[in-house]
Amino acid sequence: MLIMAQRTYPGHTHIGNIATTKRKAKNEVIRQLTQERGPAPDTESWLIMFQGKGMPQYWIILLVKKNTTLEAIDSILRYIWLECCGHLSAFTIYGEDYTSFPDDELGGKSMKTRLGKLFSVGLEGEYIYDYGDSTYLTFKVIDLVPFNPKGDKNVEIVAQNDPPEILCSVCGEPATQICLECLYENDVEEPFFCDACFEEHECDEEMSLPVVNSPRMGQCAYMG
Ligand SMILES: [Zn+2]
Ligand SMILES: [Zn+2]
Ligand SMILES: [Zn+2]
Repeated sequence: MLIMAQRTYPGHTHIGNIATTKRKAKNEVIRQLTQERGPAPDTESWLIMFQGKGMPQYWIILLVKKNTTLEAIDSILRYIWLECCGHLSAFTIYGEDYTSFPDDELGGKSMKTRLGKLFSVGLEGEYIYDYGDSTYLTFKVIDLVPFNPKGDKNVEIVAQNDPPEILCSVCGEPATQICLECLYENDVEEPFFCDACFEEHECDEEMSLPVVNSPRMGQCAYMG
């Protein structure tokens, strides 16, 4: 008998630190915002879910002021998930690129574009960080809600996935290191090791990156 494995992707709200799952997170976030903050008059903010493209276990929900810029979202994505060496990035929305480098020859519109007229509930788009060793994200605007991000910020992270369990391929303890030589040169499917097993491991010990809670894990010089 075939059992359809329904995967849940556990996480927590940042407000109230409530355990939830990717599917339930939106309602839990709204519940927490209503309880802790209360709806504010004349206020509208987007709830936007980002996830790793092809890596649905990495997800975040952002509360974003209705008419702030794409740039404000870009900086929080870099902060929480992506930034290693100041690479270029871009959103793709309705087939148009909104880039962090609009004057370059690659062109595209600017991330200074405001969300107010561009976004609507249900809108889906993509995002790329780094045109060399690229990390791709997808996003969806999941709601428009009567709350402000905390402390007059433009963007607030309101929920995030818990670190996925990644185990050492030798001993089964939680992994801390990714061997890049195994990953990129030897094409090993499970290049993950705990500290002790990585010390015994034969590859070049310089060629490693830490296991981190991000879809950019193991790419470029990303340390978390
Ligand atoms: Zn880099
Ligand atoms: Zn181990
Ligand atoms: Zn190795």
